[in-house]
Amino acid sequence: MAVGVLAVQGAVREHLEALRRLGIEAGPVRTAEEIAVCEALILPGGESTTIGKLMDRYGLLQPVTDFVASGKPLLGTCAGMILMAKKIGAAAEDQPSLAVMDITVERNAFGRQTDSFEADLEVEEIDGPPIRAVFIRAPIIMAVGPEVQVLARHNGHVVAARQGRMLALSFHPELTSDPRIHQYFLSMR
Ligand code: GLN
Repeated sequence: MAVGVLAVQGAVREHLEALRRLGIEAGPVRTAEEIAVCEALILPGGESTTIGKLMDRYGLLQPVTDFVASGKPLLGTCAGMILMAKKIGAAAEDQPSLAVMDITVERNAFGRQTDSFEADLEVEEIDGPPIRAVFIRAPIIMAVGPEVQVLARHNGHVVAARQGRMLALSFHPELTSDPRIHQYFLSMR
């Protein structure tokens, strides 16, 4: 398997379709063995509390932590980004998480008034026209550590960042037909 999409809950199919449109061999992963053989892994959007609890129950937190430690690329979109963050503001109590990336995130940070919206983003490292980004009850990156590169902001809020081979996004690149974010991620392999 070239690229795995963690398939316990959330927008799995959309990521798989985006990868397959790029001609990449991709599949859903649900076990430690399946994770270990991937070249790169995606944690999709969904509900971070649910995904974290299911990962805990299925014994997948350590395998994903080991995956990152081995230097393989990890992309987290929205809920996936929340699971990667070392600090989670407004975390649900006993929310299990990976805590692998030196960022502080705030869940549902755009508030109820703007539950979902789209915006054009200038993303560093990605050439061409702005990227159309879909935000759904999106988190914001409130603080980043010294090894984290900020890649994009929306209204001054950090919404995309990279640390080594970890890429964290507040938005959903799998919900638009623009392949550039997935291509950028795949170039980290
Ligand atoms: N609000 C969700 C959470 O806190 C994330 C939403 C999403 O992934 N689209 O987990």
